[in-house]
Amino acid sequence: MPVIPQSKPYRIGRSKTGLGLFATQPIKKGTKIIRYFGPLLDSKKADEDAIENKYLFELDKRWTIDGSIRENVARYINHSCKPNAESDVKPRKKKIFIRAIKNIEPGEEINYDYGTDYFKAYLKPIGCKCDACEKKRAKKKAEARAERAQVKAKDVRKAEKKAKKKAEKLVKDKAKQRPKARAQSGEAARGKAKTRRPAAGNRGRTKSTPAKTQTSRAKAA
Ligand SMILES: [Zn+2]
Repeated sequence: MPVIPQSKPYRIGRSKTGLGLFATQPIKKGTKIIRYFGPLLDSKKADEDAIENKYLFELDKRWTIDGSIRENVARYINHSCKPNAESDVKPRKKKIFIRAIKNIEPGEEINYDYGTDYFKAYLKPIGCKCDACEKKRAKKKAEARAERAQVKAKDVRKAEKKAKKKAEKLVKDKAKQRPKARAQSGEAARGKAKTRRPAAGNRGRTKSTPAKTQTSRAKAA
């Protein structure tokens, strides 16, 4: 790994996808953090145009920076769809700087958006692992889980309703078969309820209202 002077506000460290560049000091929004550099490739020279690696950074139609060299510490900066830095491309000067677009705290990983072409070629096929995308995926998963739970609950309710209906129908059908027995038992039940009511009332009431219970019992009598 390349040695980074202590005066620099970053260090190379472990990130989710391998190595990354992390702030070691607060970096203010708008600050140039690091230069992305390497040999200039000329697309007009066939042999240079044939070079292929993940660290190629296009300056314009003709010039590309090959950032794969060891000394280019900026190549450790990972992509993010919701970054805290950006690449500031100066085609005329043939230079690229990585600049903070947010205040970055010590310990925070430095990220910039690699752009659509890179994303399509390298990240989309394996799924972007940036925080923003991970969060999105987690949210989608949670939503799918919630939906599945909802569907399940609905099914349970439906099954319960069905079972209840079935039970009710069974009772009804039984009653239809013996209409006389039902009338009798119904009367018996009502009679029982009448005699039981004052006692139940007594149990439920507090000791301070015995008079009321008595009058209501008298009325009932
Ligand atoms: Zn992403």
